[in-house]
Amino acid sequence: RSKRRGRGQITVYSREIAQEMRRSTQLEQALRNAIINDAVDTHFQPIVSLADGKVLGFEALARWIDPDLGFVSPAIFVPLAEDRGFIDTLSETLLRKAAEAALTWPRELFLSFNLSSVQLTDSSTAARTLSIVNSVGLDPSRLELEITETAVMSSADMAGRIIAELRQAGVRISLDDFGTGQSSLGRLREFTFDKVKIDRAFVSAITTDTTSEHIVRAIITMCEGLKLHVVAEGIETLAEATRLQALGCTMGQGYYFGRPADAMATLRYLSRQYSDFAGRRQSSPFSS
Ligand code: C2E
Ligand code: MG
Ligand code: MG
Ligand code: MG
Repeated sequence: RSKRRGRGQITVYSREIAQEMRRSTQLEQALRNAIINDAVDTHFQPIVSLADGKVLGFEALARWIDPDLGFVSPAIFVPLAEDRGFIDTLSETLLRKAAEAALTWPRELFLSFNLSSVQLTDSSTAARTLSIVNSVGLDPSRLELEITETAVMSSADMAGRIIAELRQAGVRISLDDFGTGQSSLGRLREFTFDKVKIDRAFVSAITTDTTSEHIVRAIITMCEGLKLHVVAEGIETLAEATRLQALGCTMGQGYYFGRPADAMATLRYLSRQYSDFAGRRQSSPFSS
């Protein structure tokens, strides 16, 4: 409950809210310390070709395990860092780590990295992003940045400029969680993207719900027409993978193909993949 006091000021005195504020302040302090102590890590989840299961790249996903709080989901701490004004520091730390890991992979594999909606309102985002990948030594053409349609639409002018600057440098742009945002399809014309990621909500319903199947089919057809690559997110079963491939989807990501794993486990995954495919390849990128 709150009480309005003069000049539109609102005094909040609910105990629950006070408690929640203490909790989030504690969480904020723990996260700030974790960033300083290099305790926030990135894991990597494979994105594969649906035709043969071959890995094409990895999405970096932030991971943080606090000694007291335990596992904290990025769905909690990313919005917290946005809210408290240090998402740029967090994001730069994560991008540097992710880019360094990508340097140890075969060169044809891409790194996909999530940009925060707040970063799309900051005119320095493109320059800062490029300066990180350049300082690490990652070719910008191996980098993809995932942004959500909601983030793009809520700061359309700035987002458009940031996207243009990044694409100019060879970075690709991927529209994340597609189908769940509030944007109109028409407004997507204002921006140039390279890839669309169909949200897991449609993918997980595709084998049981014909409405979802129709929506996925429509997204794939649209992407074919617009010459956009399309990835289905959150594939958990062979049935889903098979159905998506039949609908013309070329790329997939999800627990069925691989869970997010740390940098070391990702290298082990790659050496297995590349020895499996070695027979069909000229040479393995791991053989020197
Ligand atoms: P997202 O970018 O859409 O990432 C996909 C999420 O789906 C990840 O959750 C991933 O672990 C999960 N996922 C992948 N395959 C499956 C599957 O087959 N089944 C199920 N049930 N889930 C699957 P995660 O890692 O918890 O990340 C949640 C969200 O947090 C991300 O959604 C992204 O929006 C945000 N996030 C994560 N890392 C970062 C980061 O480094 N920077 C920013 N700005 N946001 C991040
Ligand atoms: Mg993503
Ligand atoms: Mg997504
Ligand atoms: Mg998501």
